[in-house]
Amino acid sequence: MSETLNLTLDLIRRVSVTPEDAGCMDRVVARLQPLGFRTEWLNFGDTRNVWLRRGQDAPLLVFLGHTDVVPPGPLEDWLSPPFEPEIRDGMLYGRGAADMKSGIAAMVTALERFVPAHPGHRGSIAVLLTSDEEGAATHGVVKVVEALEARDEHIDWCLIGEPSSFDRLGDVIRVGRRGSLCGVLRVFGVQGHVAYPDRADNPIHRSAPALAELVATTWDEGNEFFPATSFQISNIRAGTGAENVIPGRLEALFNFRYSTATTADALKERVEAILNRHGLRYELSWRLSGAPFLTAGGELVDAVQRAVTAVLGTPARPDTGGGTSDGRFIAPTGAQVVELGPLNGTIHKINEHVPVADLDVLSRIYQGVLAELLA
Ligand SMILES: [Zn+2]
Repeated sequence: MSETLNLTLDLIRRVSVTPEDAGCMDRVVARLQPLGFRTEWLNFGDTRNVWLRRGQDAPLLVFLGHTDVVPPGPLEDWLSPPFEPEIRDGMLYGRGAADMKSGIAAMVTALERFVPAHPGHRGSIAVLLTSDEEGAATHGVVKVVEALEARDEHIDWCLIGEPSSFDRLGDVIRVGRRGSLCGVLRVFGVQGHVAYPDRADNPIHRSAPALAELVATTWDEGNEFFPATSFQISNIRAGTGAENVIPGRLEALFNFRYSTATTADALKERVEAILNRHGLRYELSWRLSGAPFLTAGGELVDAVQRAVTAVLGTPARPDTGGGTSDGRFIAPTGAQVVELGPLNGTIHKINEHVPVADLDVLSRIYQGVLAELLA
C-alpha cells in the first residue's frame, strides 16, 4: 500500500474536530524529526501549532496545513463512519480525506523522498501545522506568524495543501483569496399588537427594502485576478414566536467576499449609506476576517507550475475563488503563497472523499516543487 495512503488513513482515524489535533501532529513530528527537522511547539489557548524546520539559511519554503476537521454532521447520513476511513470504488472516504489530511500526508512522503536524496539542499524547509483553521483561527497560524516575525524568521515561499483542485487533481492552484468581511445588523422598531400597527414600528417591514437593495447592489466587477465582490445574508432573526405580536427588533448577519477592486472601508461606507437612506434605526458591527491577498507571479508560482506540468502534462489554472484560508495570515508578511491540494468537491460534506490514486500523484508534485526550488 502507498505510504501516502497509509499516513492519510492513520490521520483520518484521529478524531480531530476543530480545535482538537488528536495526536495528528505527533505522527508528523515522528516522521520528520529523523529527517533532521527541529520541532518547536507554539501552542496557544486550546490550539496546538507545530513548527518543524530543517536548515538555517534563506530562502525558506514552508508547507502549511491544518490537522483539524469540521464536524461530521449526522452520522447516520454517512455510508461509512467518518473517522473509520474506507476505500470504495477507488475512493477514500472519511472526514478530512480531502480537507486536508491527504495533503498533509503527501507533504510528509514528499519530504521523505526529497530530503534523503538532497541532504545538503539549499535554503531551508519548514512544515507548519495548526489545529485551528476550521474554527475561530484566533490561536493558530496568526499567532505563529506573530512569533516568527518577532524573531525575524522570514518565510519566502508558502505552499498550502488545501484542496484547490476542481475537476481533476492539479487543474487549479489558488494564488490568492478574496477578503471576507462580516457584518451584524440590528434594526430597532417598537413592539406592539399586530391589530394596532400604528402604535408599533415593524423592523421587518422597515428592513426588507434596505436588505433587498443590499442584495441587488453590484459592488464591483472584479478584476483580472478576482471575481466580482459578492454579498450574502446568512442569518435573519426577528419575531417573538407569537403570530399577533409585531417584534421590536430584527438582527441580520451578512458577509462580503470581496476582491481587490474594492476595500473593506469602501464596502462599510456603502452599506451604511444604504441603511441611512432607508431611514433605519440600527446598530452595525463589523468583523474583518481576512483581507484579500494575491501572489500574481514569482518563483513559487513558476516552480509549482513546472512541477504540475512535469507530473500531469499541463499547468494548472491560477484562481482566487473559494473560502479564506490560513494564507491570509502568511501573505501579509510578504511571502509568496500558493495553494495546491486534492479535489475540493466534497469538502465539509457528508461522505467526504478523494480518489486514492491522487494521493501519490500529489506527493510527487510536492516533491517536484521541492526539487525546483531547493535542489
Ligand atoms: Zn482546509
